[in-house]
Amino acid sequence: MNIDDLVKGIAAGERRALARGITLVESSREDHRAQATALLAALPKEREALRIGLSGTPGVGKSTFIESFGMMLIAQGLRVAVLAIDPSSSRSGGSILGDKTRMDLLSREKDAFIRPSPSQTHLGGVARRTREAVALCEAAGFDVVLIETVGVGQSETVVAEMSDVFLLLLAPAGGDELQGVKRGIMEMADIIVVNKADGDLKPAASRTCADYAGALRLLRKRPQDPDGFPKAMMVSALQESGLSETWGEVQALTDWRRANGFWARARAAQARYWFEQTVKHTLLAQLEAPKAKAALSELSDLVAQGAIDPTKAAQDFVAQLER
Ligand code: GDP
Repeated sequence: MNIDDLVKGIAAGERRALARGITLVESSREDHRAQATALLAALPKEREALRIGLSGTPGVGKSTFIESFGMMLIAQGLRVAVLAIDPSSSRSGGSILGDKTRMDLLSREKDAFIRPSPSQTHLGGVARRTREAVALCEAAGFDVVLIETVGVGQSETVVAEMSDVFLLLLAPAGGDELQGVKRGIMEMADIIVVNKADGDLKPAASRTCADYAGALRLLRKRPQDPDGFPKAMMVSALQESGLSETWGEVQALTDWRRANGFWARARAAQARYWFEQTVKHTLLAQLEAPKAKAALSELSDLVAQGAIDPTKAAQDFVAQLER
C-alpha cells in the first residue's frame, strides 16, 4: 500500500481513502502496524473536528439520535463522521454499534461517514484503534466526529478521553431510575440528553430531566464548565425536536472552552494520555510474544522451585526484553 497516496486521498476528504486508512489502523498485522504508524505521522495536523462522545444503554435511541442529529448537521453544511466503541463486540464477536443499517438516511449522505466498531479482543485495543480512526476522520476534514458507545461502564471513560464534549443519552424513566446511572458516568457528562420526550412519554421525560438536572447541581463544579453546565435537556430523536437546541448548547460550551483555554488543555492532556497508554500496551504486547512467554514461564518455574530469587529473576527477564 502506498502511504503517500493514502495520505493525499484522506487529506482530500475521500471517503474510500479514509475507509482504507481505518482498515489499516485496525489491522493487527505487524507490517500493517508499521504502515499505520507512518500514515498517522504523515497526516495533516492543522485540522480539528469537534469530537462528540455519546453514550447510552441499548434502546435509549442512540442510533435514532445520531441519524437525526447527523442529518441536521449535514443540512447546515457540515461533514459528519460516526465511529463506535463497542465493548460487547469482543465478547460476542459481533458489533451492535455504528451499524450502517441503523442509520439509514445518514449512511446515504455523501457528507457522512459511518464506521462500525472494530472487533478486538480487549477494550484497550479497540480504544487505541478508535482514537486513531478519529485522527483520520479529523485529517479528512470532517467537522464533527461522533463517537458512540454503549453505557456499560469502562468504555465511557475511554470515549471521554477522546472527546471534546460528552453527551449521556437517557430515556424517560420512573423516579428511582436515577440510581441506575453510575455516579462516575454522570460526572463525565457535559450534557445529559433525555430522549423520547414525545407522546405519552413526554411527562416522564420532563420528570427525568428535572431529576437529573437536580442531580447534576449536586456534583462538584468542574473548572472546564461555564455557568449552567453540565446540564440536562430533553429531545425527541424520533420527532426531531430539541436537536438544534442540543447543538446550540454543544457550541456554547465548546466556544467557552476554546476562549478560556480548556479546549487546548484537554486536548493536550488527552494526547499525553494516549501516548502513555500506547507505551503501556506496547510493553504488555512484548510480554505476549512467544519468545518472551517462554522465557517468562521458564524463569517462573525456577522462582517457584526456589532456585532463583523473584526480584533477580524479574530483573533478568526485563533486561532480556530490552536487548
Ligand atoms: P439504541 O439501541 O440506543 O441505538 O436505540 P435505537 O435508536 O435503536 O432506538 C431504540 C428504540 O427506541 C427504537 O424502537 C426507536 O424507534 C425508539 N426511539 C428512538 N428515539 C425515540 C424517540 O425520540 N421517541 C420515541 N418515542 N421512540 C424513540
